[in-house]
Amino acid sequence: MSITTSSAQQGGLWSNLALWKKILIGMIAGIIVGAIMGPDAEMLKPIGTLFINAIKMLIVPLVFCSLVVGVTAMQDSAKMGRMGLKSIVIYLMTTAVAITIGLGLGTLLEPGAGLNMVADANAAAVAKEAPSLVSTIINLIPKNPIEALAGGKILQIIVFALGLGIALNMIGEKGEPAVKIFNSLAEAMFKLTELVMKFAPYGIFALMAWVAGKYGMDVLLPLFKVIGAVYLGCVLHVLVVYTGAISFIAGLPPMQYLKGIINAQMMAFSSTSSSGTLPVSIRCARENLGVSKGTASFVLPLGATINMDGTALYQGVAALFVAQAFGIDLSTADYLTIIATATLASVGTAGVPGAGLIMLSLVLTTVGLPMEGLAIIAGIDRILDMARTSVNVSGDLMVSVLIGKSEGELDESIYNAHEPVTEPE
Ligand code: ASP
Repeated sequence: MSITTSSAQQGGLWSNLALWKKILIGMIAGIIVGAIMGPDAEMLKPIGTLFINAIKMLIVPLVFCSLVVGVTAMQDSAKMGRMGLKSIVIYLMTTAVAITIGLGLGTLLEPGAGLNMVADANAAAVAKEAPSLVSTIINLIPKNPIEALAGGKILQIIVFALGLGIALNMIGEKGEPAVKIFNSLAEAMFKLTELVMKFAPYGIFALMAWVAGKYGMDVLLPLFKVIGAVYLGCVLHVLVVYTGAISFIAGLPPMQYLKGIINAQMMAFSSTSSSGTLPVSIRCARENLGVSKGTASFVLPLGATINMDGTALYQGVAALFVAQAFGIDLSTADYLTIIATATLASVGTAGVPGAGLIMLSLVLTTVGLPMEGLAIIAGIDRILDMARTSVNVSGDLMVSVLIGKSEGELDESIYNAHEPVTEPE
């Protein structure tokens, strides 16, 4: 009898807990279980994959519907253009700052010093070729929008959704039935996101157990300095640059921003995918930060695709790590080249797990660093990816607040509310 009562109370305690607390508990429990189980923790991975698949299922319909809704909610096309331009400028500026922080920490902490590695001239490493600017622009327009939707090509989907939204605005009354359908589909997708997120603590538990079990301490210790430098840089970027922008540019209390984005950060940390986190980011922006539906639906998908501050920062640290590990001196011109290439490479990085590592090959080859360095980084990339993806997503959310504030699209009563409106669930 007493057992039944106490387990019922425990169940009550757990279900009354705010989602982010459940996720945090899941994450810590996962690390402990993974450390105990070791490589056997792999068997928990399917639970994590189930969760990741459920989130991925939401991305294409959510981005498409919410973007069409975002555009049709904004009848003022001049405003939309302005918002797009402002977002891109802020995205690029914060990315350049991020890589500078990465280079600064890489120089200061010297994560690769003393490794004394020798480059093998015959190493079979294949660098990714930079796509030309012309082909990138041409590929923005989908030849077949259904194919773009089916293939999950986010940039193409954005272009088609923008076009469709603008056309619906232009036909006025005739477009209303379609707008209503997109509105109701978008709402349904938000609801579905909420339902899927209820499973997040368990999925994240499984993913963390797998990561902790796979890497173990032996692999991690020698590379601890790189991990430390990337994590330190990521924390600094969020705590100094983002909260600084929120306080000094938007004039808002930064704690509210940090509290409001925590669910998205944890989702990003455990899934290592900004695109995969998009449904949660949109929800955080609207419900915790008070960003209007139109602004969130417009700024966030764009950010999840092109704004990768964490990735740029990581590329800075990683490039210096490789240079130091192989004893190669870099000139000032090399540093500038790294800043330019990493900024562009981060724009071209897809918001999916491990994409930053592929783009790192581009940065390394541009400054002539040995590709074997990539293999060392690859071993611990998942751990670095967790931090950089969290920063990528935090940056998108920061920009959504800045744009919302400057365009009068931010509900400050929601932003300043003590508890996120949707918590506890
Ligand atoms: N995983 C990162 C993201 O989705 C991209 C990267 O690998 O840097 O934002």
